[in-house]
Amino acid sequence: MNLKWFRVPKDIVFGENALEYLSTLKGKRATLVTGGSSMKRLGFLDEAQKQLEKAGMEVSIVDDVEPNPSIETVIRGGKEMAEFGPDWIIAIGGGSALDAAKIMWVYYEYPDTKFEDLVQMKFPILRTKAKFVAIPSTSGTASEITAFSVITDTKNHIKYPLVSYEMTPDIALLDVNLPTKMPPHITANTGMDVMAHAVEAYVSSNATSYTDPFAFEAIRLVFEQLPVAYEDGQNIKAREDMHNASALAGMAFTNSSLGLVHSLAHKVGGEFGITHGLANAILMPYIVDYNRKGTDKISKLEDLLRIDNLTEALQTLNKKVGIPLTLQGVTEVDITEEKFLAVLDRMSKNAFEDPCTLTNPRQSSAEDVGKIYECAFYGKSALKI
Ligand code: NDP
Ligand code: MN
Repeated sequence: MNLKWFRVPKDIVFGENALEYLSTLKGKRATLVTGGSSMKRLGFLDEAQKQLEKAGMEVSIVDDVEPNPSIETVIRGGKEMAEFGPDWIIAIGGGSALDAAKIMWVYYEYPDTKFEDLVQMKFPILRTKAKFVAIPSTSGTASEITAFSVITDTKNHIKYPLVSYEMTPDIALLDVNLPTKMPPHITANTGMDVMAHAVEAYVSSNATSYTDPFAFEAIRLVFEQLPVAYEDGQNIKAREDMHNASALAGMAFTNSSLGLVHSLAHKVGGEFGITHGLANAILMPYIVDYNRKGTDKISKLEDLLRIDNLTEALQTLNKKVGIPLTLQGVTEVDITEEKFLAVLDRMSKNAFEDPCTLTNPRQSSAEDVGKIYECAFYGKSALKI
């Protein structure tokens, strides 16, 4: 049988003050999982705890999930959960916190899990102990919707995208108050992650008539609203549209998967620690050009959006939101030419082997990937590859 699926969380609850929905959950114990400090500092962690206590639940907190969460962090979280015994896991924060919570969930239910099995997509059946609510504070990864979790092997500098529909959250809770607090550079990076999800889902070799409308609506919204949310973080309409765009893109890519933008971003992220959305934003225009030889959906997208050239439109958007056009232009980490060239072969091989490569619309090779990295580093056109 070669069946396809379209699977998303059973409930997507959205709107201002959606956190209040937590008070309607039925259960005894809930564990909140969060990142470094933003949710505590902004009062959302306390608010979530209050709503859960209103539902009559005892609450524990697993915190300190770092950006690009590590294997050690998810194993620690699984142990802390096992001591408390929650019947609800409530992840609140950026994609890192949500992704980490998903794998903590696996270790909580199956403490003997081997990480290598997860990498090979061998997942056990979940929900034997707890159900899962995801509350995103960035409008970016759509981890609240997806069957994905990205965990980093910090020793070997490799990011692993883990995939199983088992990890699709039961409930996605979209409260626009949370992303409204993002500073402009995080708004830009995570917003361009949404664009990458939507564009890659749209041109994916696994795209279907179920995924295309979600991907297209997300692309349209990001072009329209990301510059507004970046310039005026208090603009609720722009924030709401971006939060919804993120989830819509998630509904598309969790079912169609992604492509080379994510393959290359995962590995350059693992090597240099460059922020995920920023890496996507820089790489995407080059990969759009590379993919033109493999699909007619890029020109279809240009027709539907009524733009002449998607590559140029993406670079114009990058400029509007303060994102450099090349990898060597990145300032948050120092990617020197020397270090870039030293890791290029290894990084290209690893990126080619990333699972996202499988659904890229153009067949590629480690050699092509190396050429794309070079174009993106120096700012050369990828049309000739
Ligand atoms: P992170 O979760 O890494 O958060 C980035 C930073 O933003 C943190 O310092 C965090 O602080 C802060 N932050 C989060 N929300 C707010 C807010 N509302 N106000 C102020 N600061 C805030 O960022 P992303 O959401 O971009 O997640 C990136 C991760 O997700 C990567 O590991 C990436 O690989 C992965 N990913 C997962 C996908 C999936 O389908 N599951 C898809 C694509 C990417 P603090 O830690 O203090 O909370
Ligand atoms: Mn992404």
